[in-house]
Amino acid sequence: MTADSYLKEQVAVASRVIAREGYADLTLGHVSVFDPDTETVYIKRKGPGLHEIEPADVLAHPLYDDAALKTTPHMHFEAVLHTEMYKLRPGVGAVVHSHPPYSTAMSATNASLRMLNHDSLLFADGVARFDEFRLITEPLEGREVAEAIGDCRAVLLGNHGVVVVGPSIGWATLAAVTLERAIRIQTIATSLGDLRELPLEAAREYAATKYKDAYVEEYWAGWVRNLRVNGPSVPRQVAFD
Ligand SMILES: [Zn+2]
Repeated sequence: MTADSYLKEQVAVASRVIAREGYADLTLGHVSVFDPDTETVYIKRKGPGLHEIEPADVLAHPLYDDAALKTTPHMHFEAVLHTEMYKLRPGVGAVVHSHPPYSTAMSATNASLRMLNHDSLLFADGVARFDEFRLITEPLEGREVAEAIGDCRAVLLGNHGVVVVGPSIGWATLAAVTLERAIRIQTIATSLGDLRELPLEAAREYAATKYKDAYVEEYWAGWVRNLRVNGPSVPRQVAFD
């Protein structure tokens, strides 16, 4: 398999994984990976939903060709969220953007993520905020979001959604899934009673112990198995008698 087809497959798998974990928003939302050797961004195309992405639905875009973002058929309007992130933050290898309900709900409040369980620990260093509500369609706007995220794994786009990054597609997928889960648990806990928060220092120590590359590999393998079990073998129409 060539690097090109391998990276397209990664985007397809990550798209389907996050679709099952709260990121599905019909045909909206996108995932990309970056190949630094060829300075190419591999990004899900506009049209199909995250849940049904195939490698053929992934566009290869030269990072520094901003003009092509407006002329390439089926390019998402907010692709600058990806390209400007790769330009400004060389350590980023993959980017996720969508509107998962719990994270998007938090983006519409002044609430912040609290350290309540193992999911939240991945964000012990904080979640960034970009509180201006607008579609991010121009390179300058994409750059503002890339500046806002700083060294965080995620930024809440006010009243809009999230951008989540990682050094690889595995880390970005893990962070995306875990962020939405952590905020969902916080939402439930808040409705049950007063929050009992974990001390920040302990949270940081535990996160460093838990979240290693081997853990991401284990999760990625689990997600791929899950897609196999629940994915392509299901026929489009099933008789009921
Ligand atoms: Zn959006």
